Amino acid sequence: MTETARPPSPADTDLLGLLAQLDTLIERHLPAAGPGATRAPPETLQRVLADLPVPIVCFDPPHGHATRSLNPRFTELFGYTLADIPSLTAFAAQALPDAAERAQVLQAWEAGFARLRTAGGTMAPGEYRLRCKDGSTREVRICGQIVADRVLIAFMDLTVQKRMLAELRLSERRHRLLADHAADVIWTLDLAGGLTYISPSIERLTGYTPQECLQLPLEALFAASSWSRLEQALAQARADQRAGRPLQIPPLELERRCKDGTCVWVELTMSAITDGDDRCVELLGISRDICARKHAEAQLQQARAAAEAATRALQAANAELRELATKDALTGAWNRRYFEHTAAAERTRAQRHGTPLSLILLDIDHFKAINDRFGHQAGDAALVALSALVRADLRRSDVLARWGGEEFALLLPHCDLQGAACVAEKLRAELAAATFATIGSLSASFGVGQLRPGETLDAWIKRVDDALYAAKHAGRNQVVIAGAEDAPVEPVAGALRLIWKPTYACGEPRIDQEHRELFSLANALIAAAGNPDSLLPALEAFMTHAVAHFAHEEAILRERGYADLAAHAAAHRRLIEHAQGMRAQAEAGAIGVGELVEFLYRDLVARHLLQEDARFFGLFSPSAPPSASSRPH
Ligand code: GH3
Ligand code: MG
Ligand code: MG
Repeated sequence: MTETARPPSPADTDLLGLLAQLDTLIERHLPAAGPGATRAPPETLQRVLADLPVPIVCFDPPHGHATRSLNPRFTELFGYTLADIPSLTAFAAQALPDAAERAQVLQAWEAGFARLRTAGGTMAPGEYRLRCKDGSTREVRICGQIVADRVLIAFMDLTVQKRMLAELRLSERRHRLLADHAADVIWTLDLAGGLTYISPSIERLTGYTPQECLQLPLEALFAASSWSRLEQALAQARADQRAGRPLQIPPLELERRCKDGTCVWVELTMSAITDGDDRCVELLGISRDICARKHAEAQLQQARAAAEAATRALQAANAELRELATKDALTGAWNRRYFEHTAAAERTRAQRHGTPLSLILLDIDHFKAINDRFGHQAGDAALVALSALVRADLRRSDVLARWGGEEFALLLPHCDLQGAACVAEKLRAELAAATFATIGSLSASFGVGQLRPGETLDAWIKRVDDALYAAKHAGRNQVVIAGAEDAPVEPVAGALRLIWKPTYACGEPRIDQEHRELFSLANALIAAAGNPDSLLPALEAFMTHAVAHFAHEEAILRERGYADLAAHAAAHRRLIEHAQGMRAQAEAGAIGVGELVEFLYRDLVARHLLQEDARFFGLFSPSAPPSASSRPH
């Protein structure tokens, strides 16, 4: 049992007041028990005490502290009746089982009673743990007073309160222990934003002691941007509290300031501490160190960025490699390997979908001479300039490749022969008109061909290459269309060219040579049709050659005894007259490509060469007699 010396509590005041009232009551009910009286009638005292709501026992010190009376409340509390505790000693023997403690308490009580008897007043209240009759214990606070020579002791049962208090203290100690030893920082905050508690772990996290934190304004403990977010959350909490709403504060990731000026990342969760009416009175917060997570996140981010950068670098390197593998280093045009690959794919697509696909091959004329005259470097520069010039005219889907040396290939998806011939003619004219650094001007020859149904890639390329060869052979700076074997020209507007075929040769060298020359001059004439400055000289050259050739041909035919010479010579004259008429028109600036084509293709080639001339071809065939005069059919 422990006695605690404390100043009187409000409960003590009640107890003492009660004893004082008791004093008056007993005085009134016990007139015989005046100052001189030694004993009051027990039944009277018993009656008075019986009505009191407080457990009371009455001892008689002069008579060995005999128990004079106790009330039902006392029996209710401890279980003892008057018979159980005839004296204070008997009461102590039962209520205080520990002998040493009992001796100490009895000594203190007796000294107290003695003081009361001599000095009056009341005995200092004390708290004790007393054993009841049934063996249980009770925590009580007692007060004593002398009334009519007797000691009245009143008891206040504190058992329940004391147990609750002990439990509360234990709980508080437990929670404090938890908070004090938690790795996370635990804190409480009043709604005005003042810290009321912060656990010691804050020092490990920030370098600030809990005391320093409690003295600093909350704002000083957070980085500026974090503070504004926390302030918002607190304002929201206050608004919720005022509106009587339950507080719902989402977790925040904030930067806490450290004493050394650095910051640490914490995840902060807050919940409400409520009073009995469920109103929030404080906030309980837990700050968890998330620096490791933030660091890991940053590292992950860095790793991602590095991986992305590496991927980009790799893609760039791959693109460069691809470019190196597919592009011609000098001109930037696709290389032949890429071209052949693409042409094969385009050919498959065109044949599957029935769409047109055309090819142009172009070769610079006399490039060797250009190199020889101006140097290889100037030649290189011309190749670069030429490919840039050609590329400028192309559609996105067109593919320009360096076929090799000074030869280029141009693949034109979705482009038919007429379109491709126009492109070639346009390029030819542009190249011929362009001025190249150092070397001045140059020209190129072109072969053009549209892919035929079922044609292989090799056959197609060969056909176009033959057309290019024909263009070279026909005098260069021209476009030749790879057409059907038996057609001298392909009727393509803007790009008509006569093509010399082996079947046009009669076997007489001079006539064949001059016929070829005539084809070439006719092609030059068509090429010059759009340009008045070059048209007249071209027409002049054509007519001069034609007149001379007709004269040579008539002489050879005469020598061979050709029977239809007169008619043939008349046909020559008509052609010359027709050409003279065209020259007059050209001089007046009134001649179109259509008329030239009509004359050269229909009158000269189709009618004269393929019909009139064909009649004397038999004169020069190996099997023919030296002076045969019959018409070949
Ligand atoms: P043609 O009109 O018949 O095509 O005559 P050409 O001289 O152009 O043809 P030839 O095939 O005889 O000569 C081609 C020249 O092109 C020879 C070569 O030195 C030159 N050449 C090829 N590749 C390059 C190059 O990359 N740079 C330079 N500067 N010249 C090149
Ligand atoms: Mg060449
Ligand atoms: Mg060449």
